[in-house]
Amino acid sequence: MGHIFRDAGIKKEVIDIMEKEEVKKIKEWMNTEEYKEKNFNRQAIVINPERACQPLGAVLCAVGFENTMSFVHGSHGCVAYYRNNLSRHFREPLAAVSTSLTEDGAVFGGQANAFEGFKNAADLYKPKMFAISTTCMSEIIGDDLGSIVANAREKGRLAEDILAPYANTPSFVGSQLEGYDNMLNAIIEGIAKKPEAGMEKTDVINIIPGFDTTLGNINEIKRILKIFGAKFLVLADYSNTLDYPLNGEYKMYPEGATKLEDVKTCANNKATIALQRYSTKKTVATLSEKLGQDARVVKSPIGINYTDDFLMTVSEISRLEIPKELEDERGKAIDCMTDAQQYIHGKKFAVFGDPDLLVGLVSYLLEMGGIPKYVLCSNGNEEFKKEIEDLFENYSASEGEVYIDKDLWHLRSLLMTDKADMLIGPSHGKFAARDAGIPHIRVGYPIFDRVNIHRYPLYGYTGVINLTTWIVNKFLDILDDTSDDAHFELLR
Ligand code: SF4
Repeated sequence: MGHIFRDAGIKKEVIDIMEKEEVKKIKEWMNTEEYKEKNFNRQAIVINPERACQPLGAVLCAVGFENTMSFVHGSHGCVAYYRNNLSRHFREPLAAVSTSLTEDGAVFGGQANAFEGFKNAADLYKPKMFAISTTCMSEIIGDDLGSIVANAREKGRLAEDILAPYANTPSFVGSQLEGYDNMLNAIIEGIAKKPEAGMEKTDVINIIPGFDTTLGNINEIKRILKIFGAKFLVLADYSNTLDYPLNGEYKMYPEGATKLEDVKTCANNKATIALQRYSTKKTVATLSEKLGQDARVVKSPIGINYTDDFLMTVSEISRLEIPKELEDERGKAIDCMTDAQQYIHGKKFAVFGDPDLLVGLVSYLLEMGGIPKYVLCSNGNEEFKKEIEDLFENYSASEGEVYIDKDLWHLRSLLMTDKADMLIGPSHGKFAARDAGIPHIRVGYPIFDRVNIHRYPLYGYTGVINLTTWIVNKFLDILDDTSDDAHFELLR
């Protein structure tokens, strides 16, 4: 704009003032209802959606299996993104290889690169399994993974003793949730054996965490099952591989991941409990429809009600009584909620992130008397929307609004025109929270700007105490930081 004024012979100082005022005017207009309406009518572009692409979910899933190397058929830049993104969240190294497709691959197909990749990665990293996924590029070329793997076997480029389940993970549909599901489904379909008719089931319960980057959740579920005395198998267990001890020794494949032998027999286990709905649909269908499993999905056990449901499901499947130790934990969590309820009751929250996490968080906030005013899910669908609306109805939460397929620029408009008291969600929300001048509690994926949050469970009665502590103490910190002398109290 400056050059127009300059051409008209207007002095530089005057131009600077005019420009600053224009910028100020536009900035203020961006916080208005008028702008919000335009923003919500936006069709052509997405600005900062809270979602990642499919292969990222596939790569995370692969880390949960013993001696498994993620083998991504596509551009190496994409793989650098998944590794970098996941490493920043967990603050751990994360290995994955790519077939480094470039222009040649786009023209002639990527089979030659895949052949070379299988050979090099097997020689260098000696995996027991390649978990093969795709990126936008190989999907657009139309490479047929099944043929590539079969041809590689036939031509001796892929050794017979290396398992190679493969999943198409096109990034232009779905999100990291579908990518996780596609990969886990491919691994189970590719390895698990259908039990023979009349074969006796084991006592083991399969647990599928879903795309869950809060490692504390997986550890909490294991702890609960151990207190129960139940036998269990976590399918895609990366709770240790992405949190292994720093002892000076680098391990490409740290211990603790799900053993491939256990995957082979998992369909013969007593039942499966999936802890997320939206990242396990295909896998649960395969287990129940193709492998004849009693495969169930529970709501992510966040808050009292959903934790109770999970414990009752475990009790029903295992025929074990809910142990007194867990009953006592429940009592302590209720005590904590009662002590803290006054600080959350009536407060308005904006929450965003992945759908299963949001269902759990909204349920917890409603249990505490909070008002989940804005619930925004970039990768949510109508089914998710209905789940949230049902929760609003059950608690008569008439102020709640749920948005699917919206991004964080939409969220900013909501917060700038009618504030919430707190934002809860991953790190990307910090810009909207700062503009709106409200506190931001980090939960979900990704968290790049706080440490250790992923180690603390949101699940179970322990999760209730953690969430309550973070939320209430944040409000109390603000109260202390902003009180004048007369109101700076010892007791809060
Ligand atoms: S969206 Fe496509 S191009 Fe971008 S990182 Fe994902 S796979 Fe690669």
